[in-house]
Amino acid sequence: MIDELLPGVLRMQVPLPKSPLKATNCYVVLDSERPLVIDTAFNRPECRDAFLGLLEEAGLRPDAVDFFVTHLHADHLGLASSFARNGTIIYFNEPDLPLARPSDAYWAWMGSVYESHGLPLSVSHEAMEKHPGRIYGPERDFPYTVVHDGQKLKKGSYTLRCVQTPGHTPGHMCLLIEEANVLFCGDHILGDITPNITMWVDMKDPLGSYITSLDMTSRLGLSRAFTGHRSAVDNVAKRIGELKEHHARRLQEVLAALADGEKDAATVTPRISWDLRYEKWDDVHPVQKLFATGEAIAHLQYLEARGSIASRAHNGRILYRLPGA
Ligand SMILES: [Zn+2]
Repeated sequence: MIDELLPGVLRMQVPLPKSPLKATNCYVVLDSERPLVIDTAFNRPECRDAFLGLLEEAGLRPDAVDFFVTHLHADHLGLASSFARNGTIIYFNEPDLPLARPSDAYWAWMGSVYESHGLPLSVSHEAMEKHPGRIYGPERDFPYTVVHDGQKLKKGSYTLRCVQTPGHTPGHMCLLIEEANVLFCGDHILGDITPNITMWVDMKDPLGSYITSLDMTSRLGLSRAFTGHRSAVDNVAKRIGELKEHHARRLQEVLAALADGEKDAATVTPRISWDLRYEKWDDVHPVQKLFATGEAIAHLQYLEARGSIASRAHNGRILYRLPGA
């Protein structure tokens, strides 16, 4: 389905098979020379066919457009390099670049990091076998054109300004339509689901960065946000408030989980309320367990960075506790 959201700004919804996200919103800013496509979808045949069909419906050829990818996740980056030809520009942020096509060694190493947080290797290995980032990522390297915060692109009648919003990923980059004060916001802000905030190798406090990015976005006084999934957000200030409240509640749950003693992140995780349907934590799918544990770690890191909890290494595991406990 294609909608025209502003004159010369289209939204193409590319279905994501078997994903709770349902679809990725890919946007097009029309331009007489090189239209700009913002985000793609998983690198899998169903998404590729849908994406090409929508481009054709919009009267565009995949080799005649440039791409702007908000962040490294495969449901946004997956197909960009598949359509790139000589001369195609793929705008991308620098911090996410090393993680855009992670090696097998990286995935193995991540398993050991999660193990230090108490998640058994058997669970993380199974999760990584099925992880969309591993199976639906870009099929080849491609020379990305790095964009920085504040940089401006001219497309059609619009000035598009890069607005860096680290948190959901280390370098997540939004694009502001200056003339309309509307933000293409990738997964920085979502309407009826909350963006996943997880741990990252090179980020000490991803949740702290995310909340700082939300506050900065709030100050933009946006009229709308064009999200990476689901519906656009009309009342951006209200939604930012809800997202901050969501994390404040989760932080309280993490503190409560530590009230009866020191624990690793994987033991804290089932004590937090998740938007998942399950009877026993053991029944939760390994991919969801991995995502949830990553979220729990990000919240623990946030609390530790502010002195609300402390941690120590013990027998190869990282244990968190309330101060004085
Ligand atoms: Zn994402």
